Amino acid sequence: MTSKFTGLTVAQICKAIDTLTPCMDDFVYVYDLVNDFYYISKLAVERFCLPSNQFHNVIENHAKFVYPADIPMLQQDLEDLVAGRKVFHDLLYRWVSVNNDPIWINCRGFVVRHENTPLYMLGCINEIGARQKADNVSGLLGVTSLQAYFSTGHEKLPNGYLLRLGIDDFKEINEKLGIDYGDLILKRTAECITACLLPDQKLFRAVADEYLIINFSERSTADAIEQYKHIRQTIDTFIKENNYEAIYTISGGILKNGQVNGCSFSDAMKFSEFSLNEAKRHGKNCCYIFCREDYEKFLRKRTLSQLLRRAVTHNFKGFEAYLQPLVNTDTNTVYGAESLMRFHTDKLGTVSPSEFIPLLEETGLIIPVGKWMLNEAMKFCHEIQKTIPDFKISINISYVQVIKSNIITEILNAVKYYHIPPSTIIIELTESGLVDLDSRVIKLWSRLKENGICLALDDFGTGYSNFHYLNELKPDIIKIDRTFTIKAVSNDYEFKLLSLMSNMVHSMDLRICVEGVENTNELSRMKELLPDYYQGYYFGKPCPFNEFQEKFVS
Ligand code: C2E
Ligand code: CA
Ligand code: CA
Repeated sequence: MTSKFTGLTVAQICKAIDTLTPCMDDFVYVYDLVNDFYYISKLAVERFCLPSNQFHNVIENHAKFVYPADIPMLQQDLEDLVAGRKVFHDLLYRWVSVNNDPIWINCRGFVVRHENTPLYMLGCINEIGARQKADNVSGLLGVTSLQAYFSTGHEKLPNGYLLRLGIDDFKEINEKLGIDYGDLILKRTAECITACLLPDQKLFRAVADEYLIINFSERSTADAIEQYKHIRQTIDTFIKENNYEAIYTISGGILKNGQVNGCSFSDAMKFSEFSLNEAKRHGKNCCYIFCREDYEKFLRKRTLSQLLRRAVTHNFKGFEAYLQPLVNTDTNTVYGAESLMRFHTDKLGTVSPSEFIPLLEETGLIIPVGKWMLNEAMKFCHEIQKTIPDFKISINISYVQVIKSNIITEILNAVKYYHIPPSTIIIELTESGLVDLDSRVIKLWSRLKENGICLALDDFGTGYSNFHYLNELKPDIIKIDRTFTIKAVSNDYEFKLLSLMSNMVHSMDLRICVEGVENTNELSRMKELLPDYYQGYYFGKPCPFNEFQEKFVS
């Protein structure tokens, strides 16, 4: 392609660029090939790390803002243009933003010549990444417009609210009724929401199946809840009028504008996304009002999950097995220990197992960590048995391990590896997990029994105490939870109840361990129940292996 001389000078083109800049999102430029000079819309300086909107030494200066890996390709193309080997420039590559992120651009331009001499290249740069301003599926404006509107409203903060709405289980609509029908639902839902908009409110499509109402007027969260309910009713009416072809609900996350005062757009989006996710987590078809404390908890949980995962991949660094003495009431001597997991971190200090065990279970990391713990506990037991041959070790097992890993083999292998008599191993399972007696739990229970391993039903009294389980499972030991111990010490009725329960347990020929004995008062009251074992701070707190050896073994 060849171009005729336009008759315009570079200086005139620079002026035209300045005039056009406010009317466009793209960046127009001129590259003066005679004087090795470059001029681009001034707005480009706000977006990319350009030295200025005009500079000489064009090829050399490009290296300052072009993504390093793309520089050779660009230089080759520019050299070809300067040498007259090509006239049309059309390249997809990356520039670096002011935040140092690579941004995909499409740079196009043509060389203007005068009597075969290349004079300048005139062209335009578009960002080909996000920047979607409107969405034709829902018929609404998209995220870029949302961001622009949000920034214009900064001075109107802290009035009003952001209401983020999300269709519940939208994936199911797509799967059951097809993507085209899914698109139709997105459009109809947008219409339902639009019908509920109040004066001065704007609606945007946030992402896939999520919408965002921005309200800068003086309105409260109570108004936001009302509006959410109104939207829900409008959608219900649409579902009915649509002959129940698609039945769905919508959740809402409410954020007071005051809570994002001074925040960046991306933070505001994070908070509103969190609020909507919370509404979904609370069972969907409801709304949730952003609460900073909940958000901090969520962040802590996320950090903790990352730390746990990192520890697992770094040879379990930070995890430690503590031991707490188990005392025989007949002889008042330590007959064994319960192994209890600890997690030490630089960032959060030592975290309590009641906080990190549920997270390990949620993420599935309990499987490798539980296996590691099993081996640590058996290793310690093996050491202690050199001095006290019938020393018992109690190990907590999570239901996730029972259901999702080969825990039976792991226990039996560890027993063999450390040469520990199976009868000195106690596996603890909590009562609450037994609710529906999963066949895998029954299998574990009977395989361990066949192999002579002892079983303890942990936290008895906190779950759905059912004597039927006791008869069916016949655990060796029932562990009475500390919450029961406390109640029984201060309340006669609770004490009688516990007394009846322990009589019953004893009559079934099972043994009882009373947990959480802290002082002589609790000890003397619990003694009346004639338990077989005690465990509690009164006898010893959980401690590292070496300390346990010093205090209770040698
Ligand atoms: P748990 O199995 O009921 O363990 C007994 C808990 O009571 C331990 O809390 C222990 O430190 C605490 N305790 C013992 N005596 C007293 C006392 O006199 N007073 C008070 N206030 N507390 C006492 P810990 O170590 O914080 O563990 C909490 C729970 O975390 C455990 O409850 C258990 O459910 C779970 N857990 C700990 N280690 C493991 C593990 O290795 N695997 C699994 N799956 N769960 C574990
Ligand atoms: Ca336990
Ligand atoms: Ca317990």
